[in-house]
Amino acid sequence: MVKTVAIIGAGPSGLLLAHYLLSRGDKYNINIYEARSDRRIIPFSKSRTFPISLNERGMTALRQIPGLEAAVKAVSVEMTGTLFHQKNGKSRLTPRKKPLVTLDRTNLVIVLLNQLTQKYDESRLKIHFDSQCHSVDLAAKTVTFKNIPKTDNFTVNYDLLLGTDGANSVVREAFLSTEEFKCEQKYYPTDYKSIFLNNSKNSSLHLKSDHIHTWRLKDGTLMVALHQFDGTLSGAINFPREKNQIASLSSPEEVLNFFHQNFPEIGQIMTEEDAQNFLNRPIAKILTVRCNHYHQGDSVLIMGDAAHAVSSSIGQGCNAALEDVAVFDHLLEEYHDDLAESLKQFTIRRQPDGYALVELGDYAFPTSTGLFFEFILREYIAKILHRVFPEKFPPSLIDLIFETTVSYSEILTSYQDWITKVKKSNDKLLST
Ligand SMILES: Cc1cc2nc3c(=O)[nH]c(=O)nc-3n(C[C@H](O)[C@H](O)[C@H](O)COP(=O)(O)OP(=O)(O)OC[C@H]3O[C@@H](n4cnc5c(N)ncnc54)[C@H](O)[C@@H]3O)c2cc1C
Repeated sequence: MVKTVAIIGAGPSGLLLAHYLLSRGDKYNINIYEARSDRRIIPFSKSRTFPISLNERGMTALRQIPGLEAAVKAVSVEMTGTLFHQKNGKSRLTPRKKPLVTLDRTNLVIVLLNQLTQKYDESRLKIHFDSQCHSVDLAAKTVTFKNIPKTDNFTVNYDLLLGTDGANSVVREAFLSTEEFKCEQKYYPTDYKSIFLNNSKNSSLHLKSDHIHTWRLKDGTLMVALHQFDGTLSGAINFPREKNQIASLSSPEEVLNFFHQNFPEIGQIMTEEDAQNFLNRPIAKILTVRCNHYHQGDSVLIMGDAAHAVSSSIGQGCNAALEDVAVFDHLLEEYHDDLAESLKQFTIRRQPDGYALVELGDYAFPTSTGLFFEFILREYIAKILHRVFPEKFPPSLIDLIFETTVSYSEILTSYQDWITKVKKSNDKLLST
């Protein structure tokens, strides 16, 4: 019998999930419900987006759907290394073995949506925008939505409910009513603000447009900027919530001064309009989420940020979300679309990786400057040891995360000592 599937959230994981389920023949009838409006028809809002880097994990999941990899690459820039800018104007390059595919999150969503609606008509796929999931009744297998422009509610039934509604998931919230579900939600100690520069062509950065540019200040502020395929430059500035300089900036002049002083390469190309836009953009918090399981019986599953939201510091949230989808598809194949078994196995196979992912996001990069230098040194030594004795020494931590598809739980096991050290140091810094 054809199953009625409700996917909550048309972000990267929800949309890729629809692609995968629809490619499994006509077993599933898909309805996607998204709180926001259709990104393809509303003007591109840069206040709610940021660049995303996809590595082998995310790209492997996209590649399995015909046409997706090429469509994503058409709006991406491939990054061959990371350039660390220093205060004295010098910079240090860490090259990559495999380039990272980088693009704006909104563009990724638009590509996934376009490909879906080109391939499938309304007989199998319906996308309901402006429909905000309000509550889930697990026993009755119903979901209630608020239609945002009309402000009236409507309720639908499901055979399978897939919660891909991000870090503040309402589907996950419904799990809290069950006894065995445990979930830890925590705000990451740094906040962030997106940054966009309309034209980066007349700058030293433009000469290195296939590099991710990063800067780090003594107080832990981290700036990342990437060239986009349309000639713009975008990125995010992450900064400690307490005593940060960003929240106190109150005019375009102060913004320009701040960038000239701290990130001169960005200051040079920032216009007054860019500075005003930066000022207007809200400061955003990063919520991290760890849960003990991702499914309920044979009918509800959470994945992506809804299951394991992670700090953006290691650029893995989207990669992991896309990887989740490929893992779920693999389980449906293995268990012949038996939902009870596939959902249960998803928790068994994916929860340890989700837990490890959040741990790596919290503690792979140290906050203390002293430990940061130790980290750089460790990376350098690990790379050499792995090159000379590949059988004996694993790749460096960063190479494992960015350049391989080794599971997050295996990476955590290999680097547990370092993670424990950073955890202790961060806890000490936070308590002073
Ligand atoms: C600054 C920054 C930089 C990042 N950089 C990277 C990177 O380089 N690489 C990487 O892999 N990851 C990165 N990430 C993480 C990445 O953006 C997320 O992990 C990824 O978007 C998760 O995808 P998702 O589909 O699970 O959830 P989301 O992208 O959060 O999508 C959830 C969707 O659900 C919708 N929704 C939410 N609530 C409801 C509701 N109640 N009803 C209906 N719809 C709802 C939302 O509108 C949204 O469309 C970054 C994150 C940030 C903040």
